[in-house]
Amino acid sequence: MKYHIALLKGDGIGPEIIDEAVKCLDVVAKKFGHEFEYDTQIIGGEAIDAVGVPLPQETVDVCLASDAVLMGAVGGPRWDTIDPSIRPEVGLLGIRKALGTFVNIRPAKLYAPLADACPLKPERLGSGLDLIVCRELTGDVYFGRKWRDDDGTGHDDMNYTIPEIERIAHRAYALARKRRNHVTCVDKANVLETSRVWRETVERIACEYPDVTTDYQYVDNASMQLVLNPSQFDVILTGNLFGDILSDEASCITGSIGMLPSASLGDGPLGLYEPIHGSAPDIAGKNIANPIATILSAAMMLRYSFNLDAEAQTIEDAIDAVLEAGLRTGDIAKQNEQSISCTEMGNAIANAIAS
Ligand code: NAD
Repeated sequence: MKYHIALLKGDGIGPEIIDEAVKCLDVVAKKFGHEFEYDTQIIGGEAIDAVGVPLPQETVDVCLASDAVLMGAVGGPRWDTIDPSIRPEVGLLGIRKALGTFVNIRPAKLYAPLADACPLKPERLGSGLDLIVCRELTGDVYFGRKWRDDDGTGHDDMNYTIPEIERIAHRAYALARKRRNHVTCVDKANVLETSRVWRETVERIACEYPDVTTDYQYVDNASMQLVLNPSQFDVILTGNLFGDILSDEASCITGSIGMLPSASLGDGPLGLYEPIHGSAPDIAGKNIANPIATILSAAMMLRYSFNLDAEAQTIEDAIDAVLEAGLRTGDIAKQNEQSISCTEMGNAIANAIAS
């Protein structure tokens, strides 16, 4: 089958890591008899340099006409001092909005060969760390009314509508069904009215998924449980504010930022897939970046936008295999351990996919 993929390489290490992901996708296409057609468009600093804005209309049009969007990263010191309304990050927020995404999915997985990179004591890891934070993106206190009174008191309105909660809850349950059938709803329903609406709505939706176990945690407890007993989690379903904090907490217990992918999804299959790290200007152009987060983002694209589970699993297994074989880019190598380049890591994963 033929799939159209918009590629947004962006700035810094963006082009290097996207090239390695494309290399792996091409091997998947050959192995499984698919055709991936790429259309590369500009975003962020490269777009500011080329046309004066971080998100040209042509980029938006191509992304909307594609089956999925695979992105590197945007930004860098060159654009730090320009007008804030056209900074590279504006392009990133703009494309997420243009695609109608409302859920951000961030898996946090600790690979056994990298267990040393985890800041938790080994006995805390139990059966391992392999969870997904499913964070709502369009509501909550971030998008409520913000104002100050004459005496300087600050206010942020926190809102959630029932339809906003329902649509992300369905997404979380669908995800859980592709994993270990377990959803943990995280809120602050003992204190916040928005959280009480959130929990009641999730309780109602949960009845539609009797094969999925649901449990409920207050966010203060969940943040403790993440470091005390992270293996209890499969899919964490939560709002924008709590998801922002918990997804960073979950990602830091896996070790390197160079290993973590993400997906932003809306109603349909079209999604935006990108590593969680930035453009790493300090290592750009040196061919030493870790491409694994981007290659894993490509695997998420196959699974969530194209429904190609076996193909996604093949990429994930190939990454397991190269790590097991001891191959490391600089960010995940131990002191005095030999490291390989971004290209060599991409080649090794591509070869493992092919074999
Ligand atoms: P960063 O994630 O780019 O880098 C933080 C540190 O992690 C750096 O030392 C970097 O070398 C390292 N690192 C990141 N990705 C790596 C990889 N794949 N392999 C090896 N090492 C890696 O964060 P930052 O330095 O705070 O931001 C740099 C620029 O990126 C800024 O302009 C920022 O605004 C932008 N940014 C963009 C995104 C995005 O596009 N989604 C996200 C975060 C930051």
